[in-house]
Amino acid sequence: MNKYDVIQLPFPAYTIGRTCRHCDNPIADHEHASRIFCPKIILPDGSIQNCKDDYWAEIRKKESDIYKIIALYQKKVSTILGYVYELNLPEITYETLDSMGIYLNRCLYSSAEEDDMMSFFFVDFSITIHSKTNTIKIIKYDQELLKQELY
Ligand SMILES: [Zn+2]
Repeated sequence: MNKYDVIQLPFPAYTIGRTCRHCDNPIADHEHASRIFCPKIILPDGSIQNCKDDYWAEIRKKESDIYKIIALYQKKVSTILGYVYELNLPEITYETLDSMGIYLNRCLYSSAEEDDMMSFFFVDFSITIHSKTNTIKIIKYDQELLKQELY
């Protein structure tokens, strides 16, 4: 072989129509049947294009964003409940909770204590509702109790 010969590689076929799960670029038919991402390639600038890693990094980031949103909400509610608890209001209404952005359906867990009483647990505080009297109480509790309930 002459040193100037050009090696002719077969032009890849794309008749199957598979595409990369990350970037939607076509995947050549000769690639392994289980391939769902582009092959890892080194770009001229030396950086590496790795659709598989990029795809899973985005999934992990989205998941961690959700956990951050949940954690931020729980921290916010804990702060607000602490403030309201210290005020020692004579009456707490559903409107009071709504106006402060406290939504019972976003509690960590809830339990029916008695026939007419439900408790909604957040971090550091629970909100107890007596349905017969329509009384709402904020109760402070130890985080250790919450840990025992959750784990
Ligand atoms: Zn790709």
